[in-house]
Amino acid sequence: MPQKPRNADYTKEYNRKSILRILRHNAMSRAELARATGLTRAATSLIVDELLKGGIVTELAPQSVGRGRSATPLTLRSDCYYALAVELSRGGCTVGLCDMAGNLLQCCRLADQDNMVWFIVQELKGMLQTVDREKVLGIGISSPGPLDLIRGVILNPPNFERWHGVEIRRLLSEALDLPAYLEHDVSALALHQLEIGQSKNFMLIYVTNGIGAAIISDGKLLGNSKYFTGELGHTTIRFDGRLCQCGNRGCLEAYASMPALLEGTAFSSWADLVDSVDRNPEAKRLLDQEALYLSAGLINLLNLIPSDTIYLSGDIRYGYELLAQRLQREISAKALDHSRHDIQIHPSSQDPNVGILAAADVVFSKFFTV
Ligand SMILES: [Zn+2]
Repeated sequence: MPQKPRNADYTKEYNRKSILRILRHNAMSRAELARATGLTRAATSLIVDELLKGGIVTELAPQSVGRGRSATPLTLRSDCYYALAVELSRGGCTVGLCDMAGNLLQCCRLADQDNMVWFIVQELKGMLQTVDREKVLGIGISSPGPLDLIRGVILNPPNFERWHGVEIRRLLSEALDLPAYLEHDVSALALHQLEIGQSKNFMLIYVTNGIGAAIISDGKLLGNSKYFTGELGHTTIRFDGRLCQCGNRGCLEAYASMPALLEGTAFSSWADLVDSVDRNPEAKRLLDQEALYLSAGLINLLNLIPSDTIYLSGDIRYGYELLAQRLQREISAKALDHSRHDIQIHPSSQDPNVGILAAADVVFSKFFTV
């Protein structure tokens, strides 16, 4: 077949999805959309008219834009597309139904039990009956790693034995006759952060019992395959250091994960430590130590992959300002590119439903990838 029609189709689809992605979070007029996408007014209007006709976008009331002129903002119809979402975590899982505007329409928490897949399928089937099935784009599954993203299989995450070797993507896809997508939980959080934040070049680090990272580069999840695993916790910061659970020595996780940091101290949690900083010199010392260790891992990444923002996620999000100031100082002093002093450090989304919204964004991010 000739190449040309395929290219034209690709361009049309790319432009259509670019407009949808913008309207997902911001209402905009045709003129604003043309400016934001770089498309001509005529091309923008053509796509918008098709989206209006298809019932995917809708017009809001016209607004004055000065000198007697008005513009009609367009917005995504909240019922245009949906995603089912499954957030697997230690101790249970959460399943939900989200719309493309980012609303969580239904949500259910399932305790860890035998036949988990069966219970998940029953809940998802119930949710599916409440919307037009034709508008459901798929099932997003987020899980602790390691995962085989190519085969859609959960490999052997620690303290997650129930799920070891489960072909979760195939099982859910076949049971519901919908496409399913598996993603690392930290990568899913980064995909969600990309949708709700400003930066297109950032790293998200997640510190709890372990340490994970995901990197968004030029608006895309880095190594969204088997080639980047996000195992920041197992990068070496001391080649002859403490033995790590992975079998190597001196891994970042052996120093900066919460159990490693708090072992042998009087603090029961990161929140306990942060709340004690003003009156307890030991808490301050541990906070400085955490920043020192984490910055070592982050500088390794920053020296390889440019980023303008770091999002702190997991336990370290609590009272993040104290850690952020210290990380900023260490990174400014030590990273090779001295413009690092203007790197932004923020907490990741504080929405209590962020995990399930992130699992849904695994589906929407696939949809927007042409
Ligand atoms: Zn390790």
